[in-house]
Amino acid sequence: DTFGMDPDALAAACESLADGHAGQLKAVLPVHIYGHPVDLSAIQGIVEEHNLILIEDCAQAHGARLKGQRVGSFGALGTFSFYPTKNLGALGDGGAIATNDPELAAQVRLLKEYGWQERYVSHVAGMNSRLDPIQAAMLAVKLQHLDDENAKRREIAARYTAALADTPLILPACADNVEPVYHQYVVQHEQRDELQQFLRARNIGSLIHYPVPVHKQPAYEGRVELPAGPLTVTEGLAKRILSLPIHAQLTDEQFDRTVAAVRDWVATL
Ligand SMILES: *Cc1c(COP(=O)(O)O)cnc(C)c1O
Repeated sequence: DTFGMDPDALAAACESLADGHAGQLKAVLPVHIYGHPVDLSAIQGIVEEHNLILIEDCAQAHGARLKGQRVGSFGALGTFSFYPTKNLGALGDGGAIATNDPELAAQVRLLKEYGWQERYVSHVAGMNSRLDPIQAAMLAVKLQHLDDENAKRREIAARYTAALADTPLILPACADNVEPVYHQYVVQHEQRDELQQFLRARNIGSLIHYPVPVHKQPAYEGRVELPAGPLTVTEGLAKRILSLPIHAQLTDEQFDRTVAAVRDWVATL
């Protein structure tokens, strides 16, 4: 319902991998997709039981809260992207990793800059993944507006949900105890390609996040054993999802035009 990792499926996958593939199982990486926090309570139990590391992908969920606590502060690591289109976006690429663990923090600092502990000596095989100071300076300013912009996204989402409630579209659900940040507002319909074309004809942009699931990407397909069987939920969703325009600067006129277009399309069904 909320597009996140299913704890029951995760538990089944961990059980099945634990036989014979112990050791290969290292970390669990739930994605707070579209800015809706994954329910981590059940996942944390599974992670502890199998001695795994929990890494939260917060690339779409800056500022979102689960039971009042910000995402990125539950796992051993929380990863953030500042790609320009994210809720907190730089003027180019950037990202950050949050952790409370000093050893992991030291490891991440090593990896981000050639594995250097002291200058010009690589202790591990690192990379160049520094956040440019000019981007950090911009982000520090934009961070002050993040909560307000997220509130605006929540308001727009609530208005979409009210305006489209009587249509056959499946609208995004919101779990109890979470404060999502609506990086995307994702509706579902079997004929979403037609809906997208209808919107495009009226100059309204919509996107599919994402058309090809990770395990179906040519680079990864067949490389990873899927211990819980085919990912039918993910594959089904990939065929039905469509992201409607949402961002803090969306005007009332743009919102109204989008709702009118969606409703006009529904009337053609
Ligand atoms: C954008 C995004 C990433 C990648 O972030 P980069 O800054 O491009 O590396 C990872 N996960 C999710 C869910 C994202 O939306």
